[in-house]
Amino acid sequence: MMSANHLEIENSHLIIGGVDTVILAERFGTPLYVTNEARIRANYQRFQDAFPNADIYYAAKANYNLTVLRILAEEGAGADVFSGGELYCALKAGIPSDKILFNGNSKTDAELELAIENDIRVSVDSLDELRALSEIAHTHDHQAKVAFRVNPDVSPSTHPKIATGLRESKFGIPSQDVIAAYKEALSLENIKPVGIHCHIGSQILDVAPFVEATKKMMDLVEEVTRLGIQLEFIDLGGGLGISYENEAAPSPKDLANAILPVFAERIKALEIQPKLILEPGRYIMADTTILLAKVNTVKHAYRNFVGVDAGLNLLVRPVMYDAYHGIVVANKAGEKSSVVYTIVGPICEAGDVLARDRFLPKIEKGDLIAILDVGAYGFSMSSQYNGRPRCAELLVCEGKVDVIRKRESYDDLLASQILPSRFR
Ligand SMILES: *Cc1c(COP(=O)(O)O)cnc(C)c1O
Repeated sequence: MMSANHLEIENSHLIIGGVDTVILAERFGTPLYVTNEARIRANYQRFQDAFPNADIYYAAKANYNLTVLRILAEEGAGADVFSGGELYCALKAGIPSDKILFNGNSKTDAELELAIENDIRVSVDSLDELRALSEIAHTHDHQAKVAFRVNPDVSPSTHPKIATGLRESKFGIPSQDVIAAYKEALSLENIKPVGIHCHIGSQILDVAPFVEATKKMMDLVEEVTRLGIQLEFIDLGGGLGISYENEAAPSPKDLANAILPVFAERIKALEIQPKLILEPGRYIMADTTILLAKVNTVKHAYRNFVGVDAGLNLLVRPVMYDAYHGIVVANKAGEKSSVVYTIVGPICEAGDVLARDRFLPKIEKGDLIAILDVGAYGFSMSSQYNGRPRCAELLVCEGKVDVIRKRESYDDLLASQILPSRFR
């Protein structure tokens, strides 16, 4: 069979990975997340090709569906995990423990223990954490390999909620305190400092802040090396943005052209050979996935409101980050746009707006809406708010369809609740 394009239009229907979305909605119901496997692999390979000598640690929080992690494991990805749960999923998916970095600004002792037991390197975010880790490692008669998460104090122009490397951010150790942290690490018997780590933010559409962060990190690398520490890796995090609304977005190659020369020159001057690690999340997953939702109502009020069956419970990005997502009327994808609509969810919140003032073909009850680019920070941020079971997730690949998460039922809303016997 001919390799299908990612998204196409055929007979006015939106097709993903060679599969008709209208048929998917009929067969599996809505709302429905649909991910194209071929696109995940292509995105990953494009990133790896741009950084042939780097290790790619996929940021699991973007989408930690087991099948997604499994596909990326097959591609050779490592993982950046931010919780015990993400670590658990990454290991279950077959990502090798020596290609996982455990991040987090407020880890529990139990999470640190899980890392130690699985021989996972930890990106330490504070001296408190360093000391806790040292004690836990001691109890397990183990040496913990660590990096420090640096707050490099750079300001990428992105939404303030996803700028993580600002001086005032909760993440990381301030640059000026980092060397003291390495010194303390050297003094602790059960700790071995092997890396350095930063992550400046997400949805960054300009390579300049990455270059600035790389330079600041390499300055620190020089100081750390002078302490006699042989860094095995330098992890510059993720954050490369994608084009949600036809914005110009740098490619992985653009990012590589901007930061690799700085990295190469500095490690050559220091005569060291650390591994470069990058942690893309959004870039790998965002455009692989669409969310299909059925139109319940069309209401001509202050705006032309289209009420669909997915809302902020399944996609919180528009509310949380004022994020833009492209909209396609999936059963009328070839028709001419003629009306301006605002697409809203069913949730009892005035803010439950998925897309504002979009010029679209005429919409009626029963039509199928596709919300684009929802593969990163989509399902992984979903909730059951308003008593709404989470929807199913499908994987498509060149015409094949698999259910990779079944639709939750009403019973799932109660699954972990316990009614004390005196109420029965
Ligand atoms: C969220 C996160 C990433 C991934 O960010 P993207 O913008 O999705 O690429 C990478 N590293 C760390 C430490 C993160 O917290």
